[in-house]
Amino acid sequence: MTRTYLIKPVLDHKYPSITHGEGIYLYDEQGKQYIDGSSGAVTASIGHGVQEIIEAMAEQSKKVSFVYRSQFTTGAAEQLAKKISEITPGDLNWSFFVNSGSEATETAMKIAIQYWQEKGMKTKNKIISRWMSYHGITMGALSMSGHIQRRERFEPMLESYPSISAPYYYRDAGQRTIEECDDFYAQELEKEILRVGKDHIAAFIAEPMIGAAGGALTPSDGYFQKMKAVCDRHDILFIADEVMTGVGRTGKMFAMEHFNVIPDIMATGKGMSAGYTPMAAAVVSERVMEPILNGSKIVMSGHTFSANPQSAATSLAVLNYIEKNNLVENSAVNGAYLKERVCELAEASKIIGDVRGKGLFVGIEFVEDKLTKKSFERALDVVNKIVEANFAEGLLVYPANAGADGLTGDAVILSPPLTITREEVDELVRRFAVALGKVERELLGELSK
Ligand code: PMP
Repeated sequence: MTRTYLIKPVLDHKYPSITHGEGIYLYDEQGKQYIDGSSGAVTASIGHGVQEIIEAMAEQSKKVSFVYRSQFTTGAAEQLAKKISEITPGDLNWSFFVNSGSEATETAMKIAIQYWQEKGMKTKNKIISRWMSYHGITMGALSMSGHIQRRERFEPMLESYPSISAPYYYRDAGQRTIEECDDFYAQELEKEILRVGKDHIAAFIAEPMIGAAGGALTPSDGYFQKMKAVCDRHDILFIADEVMTGVGRTGKMFAMEHFNVIPDIMATGKGMSAGYTPMAAAVVSERVMEPILNGSKIVMSGHTFSANPQSAATSLAVLNYIEKNNLVENSAVNGAYLKERVCELAEASKIIGDVRGKGLFVGIEFVEDKLTKKSFERALDVVNKIVEANFAEGLLVYPANAGADGLTGDAVILSPPLTITREEVDELVRRFAVALGKVERELLGELSK
């Protein structure tokens, strides 16, 4: 066997090599077909091999593929920034382009800190986050994330930022109403701000719906209004991490639109270029830009590939494609249908405890006991079993956790391309049901031993 020179996530795992993709399907070198039910890492939002995007990429590369942003701007980058200002809510009008979601949340964090510096408040430099969250793999972004598996090896190097709980009604709303839960979460934020001191906190960061660390955990309609009110009372900026939920994924262009709260800064990535090239952004409101524009006039961040024209033109073509083909609407309609079909499976299943999410962002949590909501033992590795069984059936699903320890709370996310048709949803659900049946039989067999 020829050796590999590529470092892969799990070094002793045999990853099939994908030869091509078309629409919601991927094909490996053995000719096996997979439904991309997770859009990779919730990224390939318009599906694979879209001719229009390929043409836009070729067009831009004929003009210029790279310029350094400290020397030049380009039509591609300017047009993309304008487009983002048009599709984002409120006065989120300024874009700082980066190449990954981690860079986007880290840039958002730095801009929040800089905002307060420009206003003469130099001690406001901590970020409050929810422990059950994932904001990225770089050190700053990881410091804002409670994702234990991704943190534990680097714990001594991370900043110990303050954190609070995330809305997890499936487990928290037993004795309490959703309203009472939301009051509790808002009070927790306020207490934490008072404990640390508002003069030391620049911003509160939250995913509108929690992805990798929550399995599409979805807040109530009123949750973010309560949290934002606390932020406003204490002069804390609000950063929405829309890296996973943005650009149509949840049935609105941005998930915060479900909750009627406009963030001060927003991070976006993944679906923004639908995976055709790396592209992400920190999108900043007029209000936050103002003291920077009137002050140092410099945003102290950046990467060599920031705003590179090839990625900008690609992302612009993706956003135009989403708009032209009403894919946000399709996400809402076929997402609701997907959730309905999964809820039917859940009724009959002994191990699906909760189905949640909006649009084509459907989270499924597995439990050993539906009545007590007891999670499976870690050693059973349930998420992996579900992912593997679906893989065997030709369906890709996204693994997630939903426990405050970042280890328990087995969940997966179904997040197929926004282009998926109703018939394709049916085929996805058929494959998922077969895999679920196999895992369920295996788990119930293990438990009865
Ligand atoms: N924020 C959120 C909400 C994410 O889901 C992710 C990626 N899973 C990131 C940030 C980090 O993005 P990237 O992997 O592109 O660095």
